[in-house]
Amino acid sequence: MSYKYTVADRFLRYVQIDTQADPESTSSPSSEKQKNLSKLLAEELREMGVDKVEVDEYGYVYASLDSNSDKKDIPKIFFAAHVDTAPDASGTGVKPIVHKNYQGGDIVLPDDNSVVIRESEFPMLKDKIGHDLITASGKTLLGADDKSGVAGIMDAANYLITHPEVKHGVVNFLFTPDEEVGRGTEKVDLKKLNSDFGYTLDSGEIGHFEYENFSADAATITIQGVSAHPGYAKDKMESAIKIASEIVARLPKYTLTPEVTTGMQGFVHPVKIEGVLEEATVVFIIRDFDSEKLEVYEKMLQSIMDDVMLGYPNSKAKLEVKKQYRNMKDHLTKHPHIIDYAIEAIKQAGVEPVVGKIRGGTDGAMLSEMGMPTPNMFSGQYGIHSKKEWTSIQEMQKAVDVVVNIVKIAEEKA
Ligand SMILES: [Zn+2]
Repeated sequence: MSYKYTVADRFLRYVQIDTQADPESTSSPSSEKQKNLSKLLAEELREMGVDKVEVDEYGYVYASLDSNSDKKDIPKIFFAAHVDTAPDASGTGVKPIVHKNYQGGDIVLPDDNSVVIRESEFPMLKDKIGHDLITASGKTLLGADDKSGVAGIMDAANYLITHPEVKHGVVNFLFTPDEEVGRGTEKVDLKKLNSDFGYTLDSGEIGHFEYENFSADAATITIQGVSAHPGYAKDKMESAIKIASEIVARLPKYTLTPEVTTGMQGFVHPVKIEGVLEEATVVFIIRDFDSEKLEVYEKMLQSIMDDVMLGYPNSKAKLEVKKQYRNMKDHLTKHPHIIDYAIEAIKQAGVEPVVGKIRGGTDGAMLSEMGMPTPNMFSGQYGIHSKKEWTSIQEMQKAVDVVVNIVKIAEEKA
């Protein structure tokens, strides 16, 4: 496209606004300062001339661009990114640095020479010769996760408004708080979003597109032991602490555990153990790409528990399973065009699509679970959640092209 992109300017502006999420907080948003960026985005969208813009009390931004096409059944598509940054590194006083026309080699950050973005750690750097890279200065994270996505979506909105000859249906924009503390979709209003499907721009490398993620359950084992005075406990006491430990000790060690699994392999992972003599609980997360396998793992857990309990006839244990989210693929295979549009749009931008799988969840996975199919697409983020975070201006521009291409393709195919 021969277009004067605004994505880099926007990105440099947005990363200087501190939007770090607070994992300790229970309010929404978790940190009030996230709203500073939400408000700015709403202001900029209004200035651009986007038809409907709203920021709600939780810091979500909903915006909508009307259709400019005569066609009636174009799907309503939304694009989403999160405004918050990770709690893992400071987001206060971010000083973005543009490294124009990168010529290879390690990048030493000026405010702390011990922070070095090394080619050995980021082998993809060798493909970025000639790119304009952006890093932080050494004292903070950069916030490419996910302000590259935010800036990309904002620039795509700007493109569509300044190019009325590009025909499109209703295009919606969603900016969310608190993704980094796992609460990004907690207060989302699907009525306001008013879309048929959408895409999050929250993935790393150029061309990456993800419509598969772990299916996830949480399981809790609660144990009631038998307490007694330790001096007179013979043949009476059954310690809930020991029962819990025995259950954990019997979990598989060489399969089904995060330390030894990769690719498509799932796991059963104890994340919390708590207890006293009388009562103990063990919390597990259960993950696999194949949703049906979760039940298999849960049966295994149940049989380990039942087996251990045979040694404690006067104690009780129960296993409770809570559904968390499912592989987006379960929802998306019913709507293959959502995947096809994205793959085609990436190709049209002159980029090789790389279909990946997420060994975790995303906001899109939660939205898909809520009935709003939402795969995830690259926006140009590397070394996320750290002071070594960086991005490439050229790749952020490609993400803008892909967004524009998706709405074009959806109009053409309607
Ligand atoms: Zn992110």
